[in-house]
This record gives sequence, structure tokens and C-alpha cells, in this order.
Amino acid sequence: MTSQNPIFIPGPTNIPEEMRKAVDMPTIDHRSPVFGRMLHPALEGVKKVLKTETAQVFLFPSTGTGGWETAITNTLSPGDKVLAARNGMFSHRWIDMCQRHGLDVTFVETPWGEGIPADRFEEILTADKGHEIRVVLATHNETATGVKSDIAAVRRALDAARHPALLFVDGVSSIGSMDFRMDEWGVDIAVTGSQKGFMLPPGLAIVGFSPKAIEAVETARLPRTFFDIRDMATGYARNGYPYTPPVGLINGLNASCERLLAEGLENVFARHRRIAGGVRAAVEAWGLKLCAVRPELYSDSVSAIRVPEGFDANLIVSHALETYDMAFGTGLGQVAGKVFRIGHLGSLTDAMALAGIATAEMVMADLGLPIRLGSGVAAAQEHYRQTTATAQKKAA
Ligand SMILES: *Cc1c(COP(=O)(O)O)cnc(C)c1O
Repeated sequence: MTSQNPIFIPGPTNIPEEMRKAVDMPTIDHRSPVFGRMLHPALEGVKKVLKTETAQVFLFPSTGTGGWETAITNTLSPGDKVLAARNGMFSHRWIDMCQRHGLDVTFVETPWGEGIPADRFEEILTADKGHEIRVVLATHNETATGVKSDIAAVRRALDAARHPALLFVDGVSSIGSMDFRMDEWGVDIAVTGSQKGFMLPPGLAIVGFSPKAIEAVETARLPRTFFDIRDMATGYARNGYPYTPPVGLINGLNASCERLLAEGLENVFARHRRIAGGVRAAVEAWGLKLCAVRPELYSDSVSAIRVPEGFDANLIVSHALETYDMAFGTGLGQVAGKVFRIGHLGSLTDAMALAGIATAEMVMADLGLPIRLGSGVAAAQEHYRQTTATAQKKAA
């Protein structure tokens, strides 16, 4: 790859110049006050992005997967009951991690393409009279299927059942690109990573703990050392880490939060909605269907696109890379070979999205799919012209 083209995998995302520069720095003494002046604003910036006043934020040298482990090992004990839905590869992996930690997971098998069944959660939680379920897991945005779930509805299910379980949300491919409200939705642990909405290289697990989640830490008996938030909190109080911090990434996180907050979170979400709308208009013009089965489930950060029956979707991804030097996402798990994915999160503009759509068209035409060149591009152009005009009218 020449690195000249934007990438359309749903993470890691394109790294803007200002973030690349912020990450690239000389070694500093990470036990000096200089580091504290970098760390604390980054923690505050993340709180704003999570829309929380009350949570405590922790930054581990890890990835989103380490964020999942941080959530469960700090709050649960072997044999504890967990409720989840399996509707894609990422929810599947979090469930698998819980099982490997000796947790007792009840999961609702949900078709890939559907969202979290909050009504089923309410029934299960209502039936759990003894309040044995300790945690409800929710994947906000299933990156494998391009499905966004309604976290507010999951919170309403917990409240309607008057159930005290903690609510843990995987927001790895939504936070910083789609609306996320930690306090308002009563999220007890929010998990993300540096390489998606934050537009940084991979390497940070970013995790927010509500006061209620922090209370659970003292009684939790799952083994943890590297991911123990108590050691991390002790480190932070002294402007340091329990081990060597990824200083460049934390400096980058500051730059990233500054950029997201300067653009304005609502504008960031609107930009993602607009870009996604253009991609969806193109998919419709191609006569193809999304994996997500209903418009309210459509993700604004990634589209998983079904290819015609019998055609191998992986060919699109490999041909795009070999011929046009452009990266799209493959299908994962149950939908491997059946979908390809256009990631549209992070640092992206309408014009960049058009380049991706145009390339996908060339690839599909090369491979003999009945795609008319320019059809998807024209549909997306119309969408961007109209939505840009609307935005301008509003601003005037
Ligand atoms: C990318 C992603 C993850 C975590 O991936 P890492 O590779 O560990 O950063 C988890 N959940 C979702 C929904 C994701 O998109």
C-alpha cells in the first residue's frame, strides 16, 4: 500500500496529521510533572467525549479487548452471572472472554443484522427475582454487521425490571463518532480504544467507570494485576502509572479530544450521519442490501453490505487492495464471504467517502457484478449536496 488513499476498514481509522505529530515525540521522564500535565487533560477530555461528569477514566496500554477485560475482572467474581446478546463477532468475543474467565453467561442468540433485544432483556431481568445477574453487556455498535443498538432502551429494560445489575457498554466503534451518553443512559462501564473514533494508532484501552462500578471493585474476586484500576488510580494520583505509560498515545489523545470537542460532538455525529447516508444511498443505487435489517439499526460508523448469493465478498476486498490500493473490511464470522464492509468513522469527509464509493464500484464492475459505474457515486453526491445545503441553511 502506498498510504496515499484513505482507508475504509472500520478501524484502525485514518490518522490526521495533527494526531500523528502529537504521537511522535521524544522520550520524556514519565515520572516527572510534565507527564501529569499531559495525562490529566486527556482524562478530562475523554470524560467530555463520554458525556459523563461522574465517571473515572482509565487509559491502559492495550486495545478495546483489554478494555473488556478491565471491565469484567475489576467488578466480577468467578461464577457471577452475566446477561448479553450475541448478534455479531464483537458481542460474541466479549461473551467468549467472560466464559473463559469462569463467568456464567446467559446470552440471547440474536440474528446477525439485528440489534440487542431490549424487550427480551427486560423479561429475563424481571424473571431474575433474586437479582443474581450482576452485569448486562451491550455492544453499542456491532462492527461486524453495521448494527447500532439502542442503549437507552437497554437502560429502560433494567429500570422497568427494577434490576440493580451493572450496565457495561462496548462503544469501541461508536464513541467519538456516534451519539453516546454515559451518564444519561446510566452506563456503568464504557469501553473504547484509541484507534477508531479517536483517530489514533492502536495501543490504548480507554475505559470509564461509574461510581457504582467502582464500588464493585473491592468485592470482585477475579484475578487481575495489569488491568487493576486501583493500581492505576494510585498512579494517577501521583501523576504517573503503575508501569511505563504509552506517553505518545496519551499526548495524541489530548490532541484527539481537543479536535473532537472543537468540531463539537454534535457536529461530529452529524458528519458521520451524513457520510454514512451517502454510503447507504450508493448501496441502494447498486441494488444491494445492508446486513442491518432496519433503518433504525443502521450504523453511522460502518456499513456491512451483502453481496449477491453465491458471490464471495472477500474477492471485493482483495481485488480493491491489489488493483486500486484501497482497503475495505471483510466479513467476519457468520457473515464471512457474505458481506464486505465500508468503514466510515474517524477522520473522513464527504469527498473522501466519494473516493471509496467510486473505487468499490470499479472493483465490483471488474468482478462482473451488475454495477453501473457512477450509479452509487451519483446517489452519494446527491445526498451530500442536499445534506450540505441543509446544514448551511440551518447555520444561516
Ligand atoms: C474494534 C472493536 C473492538 C476491539 O478491538 P481491539 O482490536 O481489541 O481494539 C471491540 N468491539 C468493537 C465493537 C470493535 O469495533
